[in-house]
Amino acid sequence: LMHLTRKLIEIRSMLLSIDQSDALKLPSIVVIGSQSSGKSSVLEAIVGHEFLPKGNNMVTRRPIELTLIHTPGATEEYGEFPSLGLGRITDFGSIQRTLTDLNLAVPASDAVSNEPIDLRIYSSRVPDLTLIDLPGYIQIPSLDQPETLKEKIAGLCERYIREPNIILAVCAADVDLANSPALRASRKVDPLGLRTIGVITKMDLVPPEQGATILSGNRYPLHLGYVGVVCKPSGKKPSSSALIARNGEDDYFRSNREHYGSASSLMVGTSTLRRRLMEVLESSMASSLHGITNAVQLELEEAQYQFKVQYNDRRITAESYVAETMDELKARFSEFIVQFRKPQVRAKLKAMLDEKVLNVLEQLYWSDKRTPELSALAADPKVKPEMVEPYWKYKLDAAASLLTKSGVGRDATLLVAHGLRAVIDSIAAGEPFTFHPRAAERLIEFSHTILRERIGITSDQVENCIKPYKYEVDVDPREWEAGRTQAMTLFEKEAEMCEKKLQEIRKKVGGSRRLSNLMSYVKSLEEKESQRKQLRLSGAEDLDSAAGLTEDEYRYPPAQILDARHAMLCNDRLSILKLRLTALKSKRCKAGPESEVFCPEIFLNAVADKLAYTSAMFINIELLDHFFYTFPREIDSRLLYDLDRREIVEFARENPVVRRHLDLQERKDKLEEVMKQLNSLATLRPDVQPTARRQ
Ligand code: GDP
Repeated sequence: LMHLTRKLIEIRSMLLSIDQSDALKLPSIVVIGSQSSGKSSVLEAIVGHEFLPKGNNMVTRRPIELTLIHTPGATEEYGEFPSLGLGRITDFGSIQRTLTDLNLAVPASDAVSNEPIDLRIYSSRVPDLTLIDLPGYIQIPSLDQPETLKEKIAGLCERYIREPNIILAVCAADVDLANSPALRASRKVDPLGLRTIGVITKMDLVPPEQGATILSGNRYPLHLGYVGVVCKPSGKKPSSSALIARNGEDDYFRSNREHYGSASSLMVGTSTLRRRLMEVLESSMASSLHGITNAVQLELEEAQYQFKVQYNDRRITAESYVAETMDELKARFSEFIVQFRKPQVRAKLKAMLDEKVLNVLEQLYWSDKRTPELSALAADPKVKPEMVEPYWKYKLDAAASLLTKSGVGRDATLLVAHGLRAVIDSIAAGEPFTFHPRAAERLIEFSHTILRERIGITSDQVENCIKPYKYEVDVDPREWEAGRTQAMTLFEKEAEMCEKKLQEIRKKVGGSRRLSNLMSYVKSLEEKESQRKQLRLSGAEDLDSAAGLTEDEYRYPPAQILDARHAMLCNDRLSILKLRLTALKSKRCKAGPESEVFCPEIFLNAVADKLAYTSAMFINIELLDHFFYTFPREIDSRLLYDLDRREIVEFARENPVVRRHLDLQERKDKLEEVMKQLNSLATLRPDVQPTARRQ
């Protein structure tokens, strides 16, 4: 029959791991008593070892769920804290230290915690039992304990002494039972004393007649009776071994045989207590069996139904989720790779270089007052390229080298690297990485690292490969024509932008009329300003009156003056663009590369095209190929294989959808297992019939 308790103890802890609802609870023995009543000594006597925390300052701060597992024939005795993963602990002193640490980890301001400590002890000398040790009742809290401590402890005990648990009420023989907080608490929830056992400790401290009276239980009758024990014999030196103490107990009761002998029918001694506890727990468990089987069956049906409805019986594992997530990540990434094919990269680089070309043109040509001369030269068919002033040839060389030496290698590499980074960042910011902030962080971190490592190498390489262009660029007629079309498109776009800007300004200042007023006003201001400059050079005294400046200089608000200046710049830009567009369409520019000195725009565009082509080629080799090769492998090694089993589960559970799925699945599995175990008990004990199964 002992097998039944053993099995039910297993089932009980499985049920506890499913949930804490009262419906799914098998009974356990709950030990309550006031501080110093001898509670710890009783528990240690049952286990046969000293293992509970000792000390004056209320050392039990958390409930200890103590499961004793009888291991017949085994020579080794050991304890385990399943939730700590410390493995087998054979040294009971070390168990004691661990318990002390766990208790002391509860902040002194809280004093007690509801969270139980799970401890299992395996030994051939312990019976199969589950015992819950609770903090002792206190009368008056000491100075450093919170005011509410008394109520807190009482509340905690109250939760545990509910049905179906058995109450082990520990009272010291030398204290009047009427004052026992344990008995008082038990009477509240078990007024008939049906599930309370009294344990009277320190029997050696009262005369045997008085002790016998207490144990007879006439004053406060308990259905399960009282057991008297001596866990620490008085008179002798306190012994550290609970085993030796038990011999002292035997001696004590033997020497008082006339009061406690078998004839008295009183229950005394730790072995009697152990036997009594086993009987009581077993019969209590057996009678709970029917109800618990029913409850588990109901819960199981509900879980199975929900699993079918919500997930169509689809099972998942944390591992499969992690693997799928990584595959998805790789798939999403390869979608983005399309943006980084050579033609796409080349186009992006070209756009960047177009900007540079415009800057160079602006710097060297558009701001040069002589540029219209160049257009005039180009329009005159009699002017051969060799006849053009060296000024324009130097200018063209300067322009080309400004473009080729503008740090194309670095800029082009960074442009592509930033593009890659933006892709990774956007993947990391989307689902499912919103649920996995740490993984997202790692993803960003390692991809940035790969990029960082390649940027230097790549930009050097690109810079190296465009080096020849810094000295000489040959443009063939086909490239020339392509450059011409591109330059025209570029200019048309630029002109469009200027028009748009002008329109905006016009709207802002209130019409084209007002804008032209504003502009002529600004023009006059500028003229006056240059006059003033000249006067200053000639040493005049009163600059303002000399230049004829009046107060109306401040006729318009500064913001509008600024707008007018912008408009003037746009106008200037437009006129030069128009001028050059005409040139680009001219016969001269169409002629081919020999006209390069007349049409610098075409030449620069052709150069930019070559730069983009070469850069794209080497960025592809040095940066992109490398990145696309390394990235998926890094996902595997840094995100996937890096995780141990616990981290995989943690990762999967960060996603609430997956967590709910896993939870329900686990609950269903556990309930199925419990049900299986409960059903197997039916064969163990034919008189206990689990409920009719409805499968
Ligand atoms: P707890 O605070 O309820 O856990 O009580 P302990 O088990 O720590 O015991 C409190 C004190 O009572 C300790 O000093 C024990 O040595 C002493 N004590 C416990 N059991 C007995 C006993 O049977 N006889 C005597 N004389 N002292 C005992």
